[in-house]
Amino acid sequence: MKIAILGKVHQKGLEFLKENELEIVEVTNFNNQNLQEELKFVDAILLRTSRLDQNVLEHCKNLKIISRHGVGYDNVDLDYLNKKKIALCITSTSNAVSVAEHVISFFLYLTKNLSLSDKLVKGGNFNQRSELPNFFELYKKKLLIAGFGRIGKEVAKRCLGFDMEVYVYDPFLNSDLIKKSGCIPIEKNDGLVLADFVSIHLPLNEDTKNFISQTELDLMKKKTILVNTSRGGIVNENDLYQALNSKKILGAGMDVFVSEPPESNHPFFKLDNILLTPHNAALTLECRERMSLEASQNIFYYLKNMTKLNMENLVNKKFL
Ligand code: NAD
Repeated sequence: MKIAILGKVHQKGLEFLKENELEIVEVTNFNNQNLQEELKFVDAILLRTSRLDQNVLEHCKNLKIISRHGVGYDNVDLDYLNKKKIALCITSTSNAVSVAEHVISFFLYLTKNLSLSDKLVKGGNFNQRSELPNFFELYKKKLLIAGFGRIGKEVAKRCLGFDMEVYVYDPFLNSDLIKKSGCIPIEKNDGLVLADFVSIHLPLNEDTKNFISQTELDLMKKKTILVNTSRGGIVNENDLYQALNSKKILGAGMDVFVSEPPESNHPFFKLDNILLTPHNAALTLECRERMSLEASQNIFYYLKNMTKLNMENLVNKKFL
């Protein structure tokens, strides 16, 4: 059976596929015409972040499963897969810890003035150490987490460890579950008004597009820090630029963008109160290894040994 690998992945998963005698086709050109050709007879696709729309998928004659290297699947035409009874899997157990640590890094970097401090010492200005702006603690600060799934929960655990007050907005969950985790359920706008930190952990869909735009930014305090490690487009980039430029909020950390990579003249690049990372929250060495293996196992188990498949990973089971 032929497995197409779309994008570079850790060797661990490829070794697993080879050990199990599956043929690997590594695809590096994501142009639609090339994809239509190279994917024509594959049985499975291991997919990183390139888009797979109907105009490519309808050329796949043998496709049985797409296995996402990650948990978001807004880059795949799910309606088409459902119609054709093609499985979609995610790597649900692999990346929550890595993303949660990334969120904490954003919080610490943005409140500890790390790069300015480094510049002071290296520039011979050690004695200006008491003059750094916006240098403060996480202790007792209020955090709003939007989306209390796998990643939101890991962020909460770590922030409770810093003795932060953690508020959660997730209308799809029973509020008892949120309380049992030591957090406080809250409505979206109430949470935005009180939060010192806001961290977004939602899937991208029609309901969550522009989840944070000017109206929401207007509700935030002047000292609020906003972090988005979920998907570009959930935070409206123009509105965030305006809010940061006019110092309506204190700062932001963004790992994801509407267009990736962002254009070289992206307005964010002009700001010094935003920290940007290249959609690498889930790309720690450990996480890449776990995602590559889990995505490959999803393919093998779905094709050859259904009893071993983690059913939590099978997104569209009810259509198959
Ligand atoms: P998850 O499905 O476990 O959790 C999402 C949570 O959001 C669920 O609890 C759901 O009830 C809630 N939710 C959905 N719609 C909502 C809405 N309109 N308002 C409030 N809550 C809503 O997902 P996860 O594994 O925690 O991942 C969250 C997102 O993070 C993914 O969809 C993915 O796009 C993104 N992600 C990014 C990276 C990265 O590298 N930056 C890595 C992994 C995941």
